[in-house]
Amino acid sequence: MKIVVLAGGHGGARYTRGLRAELGNPPATEITVIGNTADDLVLHGLNICPDLDTLMYTLGGGLAEDRGWGRSDETFHANEELAAYGVPGSWFGLGDRDLATHLVRTQMLTAGYSLTDVTEALCARWLPGVSLLPMSDDRVETHVVVNDDEGQRAIHFQEWWIRYQAKSRAERFIYVGAPEAQPGPEVVPALMNADCILLAPSNPVVSIGAILSVPAITSALKQTPAPIVGVSPLISGRAVRGMAEQCLSTIGVPRDAASVARHYGSRQSDGVLDGWLVDEQDRDACADLAEDGIATSALPLLMTDVNAAATIASESLRLADRVRL
Ligand code: GDP
Ligand code: CA
Repeated sequence: MKIVVLAGGHGGARYTRGLRAELGNPPATEITVIGNTADDLVLHGLNICPDLDTLMYTLGGGLAEDRGWGRSDETFHANEELAAYGVPGSWFGLGDRDLATHLVRTQMLTAGYSLTDVTEALCARWLPGVSLLPMSDDRVETHVVVNDDEGQRAIHFQEWWIRYQAKSRAERFIYVGAPEAQPGPEVVPALMNADCILLAPSNPVVSIGAILSVPAITSALKQTPAPIVGVSPLISGRAVRGMAEQCLSTIGVPRDAASVARHYGSRQSDGVLDGWLVDEQDRDACADLAEDGIATSALPLLMTDVNAAATIASESLRLADRVRL
């Protein structure tokens, strides 16, 4: 059985860890994770891939679990030194251990390796138990058009998210480079040959939305014979963590699980979903989705620990079986 997961960072990594636990370790099933790379940035000359790293560290046992990002047992001396020199960019939490990952990645990219190859090389150390694929080897960056005291301008998503804590009102998101970007070489084959495709409970706009902004990925999702099941990142209209609510408001999608499903759309009407997992609290509000061609199942969706995430993953697979053509 071949399972493909589309994932951002935190929500995607926790969900995938549950899926891996559900399937056994080493898994009897092949798991491929297509990670969002539109959060990537170049800072201090380094290529940083926040979502790929969160996936790699979480699945490889190197994540700072309390913080939810970056390395465990981390210090931030280099970042403090950069700030002391007055170098801009110290708002980004660059850890000393984490720095090594970015140095290796940057050196390999500079030497001409693709991001897909570099990610595989980094994973040789972390052994995440899945094939981790960047959505694209091409540069794609989510930019945010903000309008605040400093006027209207487009800034990098990470600056909006981390530096401004998403407080500057976002007027628009732009996936710069996406229209021309090609999926990583193994991405479309993985989607077309999958037995089941899962959309992790990741941010629908800046994680899953960014992956879907690569045209050939969305085309493959519309064409693949595999059933596609998504998991709602919203419970009772609230994002469990992060700022999905602000992102949804910006693109004009109401902040509830049913509206996110309608935003993804049913594959019966040119969308990308066959099934949608919602929290128990949203069961009634999502009952109508069947009329739109999206089958639903409801259970507690809070990933309090690996077991809870494994239960959610297991139900995703059951729903995928139910909607399999
Ligand atoms: P990021 O790239 O690090 O922001 O992470 P993702 O995009 O992968 O995940 C962020 C999303 O995960 C947020 O919209 C959260 O609502 C969602 N999320 C986080 N924890 C949970 C959880 O326990 N259950 C569910 N259903 N969603 C969660
Ligand atoms: Ca992210």
